[in-house]
Amino acid sequence: MDAAARKKRISERVEMRAQALDRLALEIHARPELAFEERFAATSLADYLESEKVSVQRGAAGLETAFLAEAGAGGPLIAILGEYDALPGIGHGCGHNLMGTAAVGAFLAVRDTLDGVRGRVRLIGCPAEERGNGKVHLMKGGAFEGVDAALMYHPGDRDEIDPLMLAMVNLDVELLGKAAHAAAEPHDGVNALDGLVLGWNAMSALRLLVRSDSRIHGIITDGGKAANIIPDRAAARLMVRSPDNTYLAELRRRVLACFEGAAIATGAELRPMWSEVCEVVNTNRPLAEAFAENARTLGRTMQARRPSDTHGSTDMGNVTTAIAGIHPFLSITEGPVPGHSLAFTEAARTPRALETMRLAAKALAMTSLDVMAEPALLKRAKEAHDGRAA
Ligand SMILES: [Zn+2]
Repeated sequence: MDAAARKKRISERVEMRAQALDRLALEIHARPELAFEERFAATSLADYLESEKVSVQRGAAGLETAFLAEAGAGGPLIAILGEYDALPGIGHGCGHNLMGTAAVGAFLAVRDTLDGVRGRVRLIGCPAEERGNGKVHLMKGGAFEGVDAALMYHPGDRDEIDPLMLAMVNLDVELLGKAAHAAAEPHDGVNALDGLVLGWNAMSALRLLVRSDSRIHGIITDGGKAANIIPDRAAARLMVRSPDNTYLAELRRRVLACFEGAAIATGAELRPMWSEVCEVVNTNRPLAEAFAENARTLGRTMQARRPSDTHGSTDMGNVTTAIAGIHPFLSITEGPVPGHSLAFTEAARTPRALETMRLAAKALAMTSLDVMAEPALLKRAKEAHDGRAA
């Protein structure tokens, strides 16, 4: 089979399963599940794969809602990644209901088109993108072992090939003081809330001095229990982001220093807890060009990043630090719609969203087969990843 015949076959195999893929995407949308609790989504996708005679490893890498499947023999190993977790309060406001299904559709289409091609495709069902850095756990658990290229897509409001996805780290700040009657014996107390507010204000002052492409934001999660008790505990959750992994490390030190100073000033005890770091997405140019060309043949023109475009952060950043990979966005909306909004939740179940999900499945499958069939493409991708050439 030549490349054109393979791509025709892939489109047919995705369309053949259109009803099942659409149904899965809508069912997952209707039952949003938070990070590490995506039991309905992971089970539905794995059940469907088994109905298609795929052997599925459920609970992969020690994560209950992760799964793996593989097809093919020899040659390079291409991973297709799918997410399926939702957001608190607004359900699938990031459209992840469309990502697991696209990955499943792509995997099955590749499996059905492998004759005469040396190569393997691994489907990785990825839990916990919205919080918890699921892919970092998957990497530590060996799910990416031997993978030569990692491909995924994300629903958005623009067709964007190389989105800026910031490096990010969470900081949970807890200050512990000493409770006392706020009127009778305030001199016996240590005010944890005052410590937190002083640290917060220092952080706000710091925000005026950081690089304009970096972000520090958060919420206060505990400010005490009663107005007549000196608070013995106060807490906040902060997020620190930057497009530069090195600058992020510097910002971490400076944000922490704000609260260290406040703890000294008030006598409260500071207990900081950092999450794992999400790294910047490093889009692999040769793989991105192959994906863009496939998207073009399917009727979409991928755009380059605009200087002002910033998305959030993703654990796919850590994957693309380790392995050549891509994380393009495909629009599911008619115009600009912010992610993580109720409007985007609505958009993630429209006919346009489902059509784009199937288009993504085709483009991911075609790109996977391009990498298997063209050793020169994988060579270029690896050289670009290693920084030797683009
Ligand atoms: Zn997302």
